[in-house]
Amino acid sequence: MRPFTYERASSPRDAAARVARTPGAKFIAGGTNLLDLMKIQVETPAHLIDVNGLGFDRIEPTADGGLRIGALVRNTDLAADMRVRRDYGLLGRALVAGASGQLRNKATTAGNLLQRTRCPYFYDTDQPCNKRQPGSGCAAIGGYNRPLGVIGVSDACIATHPSDMAIAMRALDATVETVKADGGTRAIPIADLHTLPGSTPHIETSLEKGELITAVTLPKPIGGTHIYHKVRDRASYAFALVSIGAVIQKDGSGRVAVGGIAPKPWRVEAAEADMPRGAAAVAERLLAGARPTQENAFKLTLVERTLGAVIAQARG
Ligand code: SF4
Repeated sequence: MRPFTYERASSPRDAAARVARTPGAKFIAGGTNLLDLMKIQVETPAHLIDVNGLGFDRIEPTADGGLRIGALVRNTDLAADMRVRRDYGLLGRALVAGASGQLRNKATTAGNLLQRTRCPYFYDTDQPCNKRQPGSGCAAIGGYNRPLGVIGVSDACIATHPSDMAIAMRALDATVETVKADGGTRAIPIADLHTLPGSTPHIETSLEKGELITAVTLPKPIGGTHIYHKVRDRASYAFALVSIGAVIQKDGSGRVAVGGIAPKPWRVEAAEADMPRGAAAVAERLLAGARPTQENAFKLTLVERTLGAVIAQARG
C-alpha cells in the first residue's frame, strides 16, 4: 500500500471542498472496496477524508410518504429496517443478496452505489485497463470476459457495475442527494448517477470532483410483489451473472431493472409496457442493441429466462 495522509471531516461542505482542492484526495466511509483496491495499488489516494463522523446514518420518512436513507446507513441496518422490509422489499432482498454479513455491517449506502467493477483485469495491474489507466487498452476485450457486460458497453470497456442494491434503487426510482464543493446541493435521479463508458471508462458517475453523497431518497411505496432474483456461479460470495429486480402489480404491469449485464443498473422503461406480454417481449426491448462477446452471449438468454421465472413467481 502506498503511504497516504488521513483526516476526519468536520462538515459535509468542508469535506467536499477539501476533496475538490486537494490533489489525490478521496472520501472514505466503510472502505470495503477502497481499502482492497489500495492494498493492490489500483487506487493510490494521497489523502483520505473520513466522512464516518458526519451523521447521515438515519432512515427517516419524507413529507411525501417516501423514505430518506442517510448516505452512511450500513447495508445491514438498511436491510433490517421494518419500513424497508414492509414497503420496499426489493431493496432489502437485493441488499441481503450482496456480499457477506461482515461486509454488509461496514458497507454504506453511498459506498455501495459507488463501488468499482469486479472485472478481473481491473484488479491486475500487469494488464492493460482503460478504466484503471486511461488509454492503456482493454485486456477483457479478446480476453476472459464471461462475467462482463453485454449492453451499454463500448470499444474501450465492457465492465459491469457490481452492485445489487443499485439495481433495486433503480427499479424504485431513487434519487441521490449530494453536497458539492461550493456548498450547493443537488438531487440526482439514480438513472443519471452512473455513466456509460464510451471512450472514458474511468469516469463512472456524473458526480463532480468533491461532490459528496449525503442521502438516497425513495418515493412513496408503489405496492406490488417485490422480487430480487440473482443468478451467479455459486450460491454466495459471488457477483451476479444476471440479476433481476422487479416490482410486479396484480394486473401484470411492473418495473424491471437488470444487473450483471451493463456498466450501470440497466432499466428501459419503454420495455416495461410489454410486461403483460411476458418475458420474451420485455427482454427483446431491454436488450436491443446488445453487443455480447462469444463468451458471454449466454447472458441474453439468461436475462429472458430469469425474467420469466420472476414473472411466474409474481403470478404465484
Ligand atoms: Fe478495464 Fe473495462 Fe477492459 Fe475490464 S473491461 S479491462 S475494467 S477497460
